[in-house]
Amino acid sequence: MSNNKTIVVVYAHPDDAEFLAGGTLAKWAGEGHQIFAICATNGDLGAKITEITPEELAEIRKKELTMAMQTIGGNPPIFLDFPDGFVRNHIDELKERLVYWIRKLKPNRILTFDPWKSYQIHPDHIEVGRMASEAAAFSCFPMLYPEHLKEGLEPHQPAELWYMVPMQHKPNRLVDITQTFDRKMKAILCHQSQVEMMADLFVEGADPANLSEEEKSQLRDGADTMLRMLSQALANLSEGKIELAEAFYAIKLGPGMFDNYQELIQELIGIESDSIEIL
Ligand SMILES: [Zn+2]
Repeated sequence: MSNNKTIVVVYAHPDDAEFLAGGTLAKWAGEGHQIFAICATNGDLGAKITEITPEELAEIRKKELTMAMQTIGGNPPIFLDFPDGFVRNHIDELKERLVYWIRKLKPNRILTFDPWKSYQIHPDHIEVGRMASEAAAFSCFPMLYPEHLKEGLEPHQPAELWYMVPMQHKPNRLVDITQTFDRKMKAILCHQSQVEMMADLFVEGADPANLSEEEKSQLRDGADTMLRMLSQALANLSEGKIELAEAFYAIKLGPGMFDNYQELIQELIGIESDSIEIL
């Protein structure tokens, strides 16, 4: 199929993209597109228990993400191994690595966090979103990191950047995940360490550090119910056209710029953007 795309999702911790875009990635993989996940850290801070070392946790989380990407139908994940919680101290190296991988994988579309989203408290999400955005807009300039070209890589301009679950911005893309919701849940449940850590979100009264076997078995249903509700709420934006959705704010990319001026000016002067594209 000649119209197959290469799609790269750039995120901070193993499990981020499964929660935010797992149904979409599974759908695109099923349509024959190539899906690559670039994970900036190995998630070795992601535990509320102390009976495990960061190294052991990193190993578990890498395995969990590898299984989740298999479930989604994507390629094996690429880990950049920046320190969990401290990506902020490494943004220049992160940007260089992301430009490198964009030039290597040549994606048409990049998914990441919206770094300008209100109430985003996780510094890794902010910095990964920002550096992925910069890398996507600037990887076309040959004089940026010329050492890549000496390695045989070419400058590359991805066509689009998609922000996952934009809270501050009205979404302009809704992806119908009705058929892939179960696969999304299966991918999320590959991240057992994280689902258990968030147990009190999904099972009322559960203590994540001390889960009974019964509570562990309730987790699956609790997580399914909560994510189904969220997907239904987002699908409401389609005015009844679809049942379960994931939402994005997609921007066309130009060299060193976002090509969304017209839309922003319309917003500024109070013209409501009418179009949500449903895929
Ligand atoms: Zn995260």
